[in-house]
Amino acid sequence: MQLLPIPAFTDNYIWVLHHAQRALVVDPGEAEGVLHWLKLQGLQLDTILITHHHADHTGGVAALREATGARVVGPTEEPMPEPLQRVDEGDVVTVLGLSFQVIKVPGHTAGHIAFFCPDVDGAPLLFCGDTLFSGGCGRLFEGTPTQMLNALDRLSRLPDATQVCCTHEYTLSNLKFAQAVEPDNAELAAYVTHCQALRAQNFPTLPSSILVEKQINPFLRSRETAVRQAVSTHDPLASNDDVSIFATLRAWKNVFK
Ligand code: ZN
Ligand code: FE
Repeated sequence: MQLLPIPAFTDNYIWVLHHAQRALVVDPGEAEGVLHWLKLQGLQLDTILITHHHADHTGGVAALREATGARVVGPTEEPMPEPLQRVDEGDVVTVLGLSFQVIKVPGHTAGHIAFFCPDVDGAPLLFCGDTLFSGGCGRLFEGTPTQMLNALDRLSRLPDATQVCCTHEYTLSNLKFAQAVEPDNAELAAYVTHCQALRAQNFPTLPSSILVEKQINPFLRSRETAVRQAVSTHDPLASNDDVSIFATLRAWKNVFK
């Protein structure tokens, strides 16, 4: 299996997984770059997986379907470019001989889903859309802090080795915020250096891993003492329960520059 991110717009990635001339793509916000790649590699597009309804994740679906006849698989509860196969929590999508489990992760949008395969050439793989980013998480456009915290808790319980394929290259700006929250996190400092070197050469910082995210991502670390303290220093009026801490952390990131 080959895994690669096709860059789109200013900071989107359209993930492609392919093997033996057949490919799947995730969240194609535009078609052109994908069609170019398919042609260049002589690949047949088998399936399009969609995590949520935003245009930067779905804008290329109709053109790709028309050009390739690919099957489209997306969430039950979101407006989607029809026709498609709608899937929900607990469903399994079989594609390229792989079994992807559908995990419901509302928060960024109301019906957002993620696709998890326990074994791609021996390593688990997650397509998480705009729910989990390296060093950050999606904005709460439609869901509540409780939903997003639950969603991130579920993703953080996936195996440490899980390759995390996020749909945006937001890593460096997320890490700036992460360091404001946890200035003394040594693993975070080392990861910043690592990601800066990648971006200096225009390489993606992704995929990340669940292990790395548990070490450096403040949104997976909102129960850590250092994070809780930073949040209550930032907003002394914030309540001390898990959801309030998480909500305050998310609100802080929204205004952080
Ligand atoms: Zn989105
Ligand atoms: Fe997006």
